[in-house]
Amino acid sequence: MQFIDLKRQQQSIRDDLDRRIAQVLDHGQYILGPEIAEMEKLLADYVGVEHCVSMASGTDALISALLALDLKPGDEVITTPFSFIATAEVIALLGATAVFVDIDPVTYNIDPALIEAAISDRTCAVMPVSLYGQCADLDAINTIAERHGLPVIEDAAQSFGAEFSGRRSCGLTTIGCTSFFPAKPLGCYGDGGACFTDRDDLAARLRELRNHGQDRRYHHPRIGINGRMDTLQAAVILSKMTLFPDEVSRRSTIGEHYTELLAKADCRTPQIAQNQLSVYAQYTLRVAERDQLAGRLNEHGIPTAVHYPITLDRQPAMSGRYRISGELPAAHQAAREVISLPMHPYLETADLERVSTAVCEALGR
Ligand SMILES: *Cc1c(COP(=O)(O)O)cnc(C)c1O
Repeated sequence: MQFIDLKRQQQSIRDDLDRRIAQVLDHGQYILGPEIAEMEKLLADYVGVEHCVSMASGTDALISALLALDLKPGDEVITTPFSFIATAEVIALLGATAVFVDIDPVTYNIDPALIEAAISDRTCAVMPVSLYGQCADLDAINTIAERHGLPVIEDAAQSFGAEFSGRRSCGLTTIGCTSFFPAKPLGCYGDGGACFTDRDDLAARLRELRNHGQDRRYHHPRIGINGRMDTLQAAVILSKMTLFPDEVSRRSTIGEHYTELLAKADCRTPQIAQNQLSVYAQYTLRVAERDQLAGRLNEHGIPTAVHYPITLDRQPAMSGRYRISGELPAAHQAAREVISLPMHPYLETADLERVSTAVCEALGR
């Protein structure tokens, strides 16, 4: 059994993929070719915003979002310590300070009740992460941010396709950033990402930033990056989007099915808020004896993973580049106890049952 199986998906779109890739090879516009504009239009419509600006990776999307919002060295960005390193890395890379706020122990996302106390006169933005495919509590976060005149960047690298009160992830904040890394809910066959926004001024800036800060040929009003997504990767995303809405509902169904089958196991299954739809980028449990469970599942040939074993405040690279607001007990406990099970939209019911049975055996009450 594989942790994420990308082959099944490819089989059903292989002809379409081959055709779209051949078209790119024929027209030869490998950078900012026509597939890029076509994909950006499709994704902006899917998310329900005015603008999608594609990027070379999710990390470049986050860097560009911070630059577009004028983040300067010494500024602060309020975020979660329980995420992939990229979330905090981009803040540090730009010479700013990450301000870590503890998570809600149930959703693993930043606890909105703790954000206000973290705001200082250096705060430039709030950057929640929608972890494991479920949006952070963006209504509460937007309300606090608005009160203080702060922009919100959603790190939606794991939540593309997720819904929050009937609206889609990436379209709920000042800028939404996602990743098309192959293992993400919508993945290409290499690196890719995108920023989403309703604001024309920010979209224009993002387009300049991804292209060396260039507004017209060889004229550079601002410092930018080489953050353009390849035309070939856009062709892959266009093809995968034909399946994606169905995959979102499959992911949600599989996640709920896992939760039903694991009801009797001595573990905490994911809790999805009433107004949300999770894309289950990861199906993540919380157990007291994580290593023991991983060992037992491994004996059954079932792979597991830990997202994430070390919180960002404890990463050596972040030393001296962050500040903690309050304390982080929920994040530290989650880092000790979380474990993710195999999850992808084509997971067969038989496999799902096999994994669940093995987990129940290992963790029977
Ligand atoms: C994957 C991921 C990123 C980075 O995306 P890349 O496309 O790999 O650069 C950022 N934040 C989170 C939460 C992620 O999971």
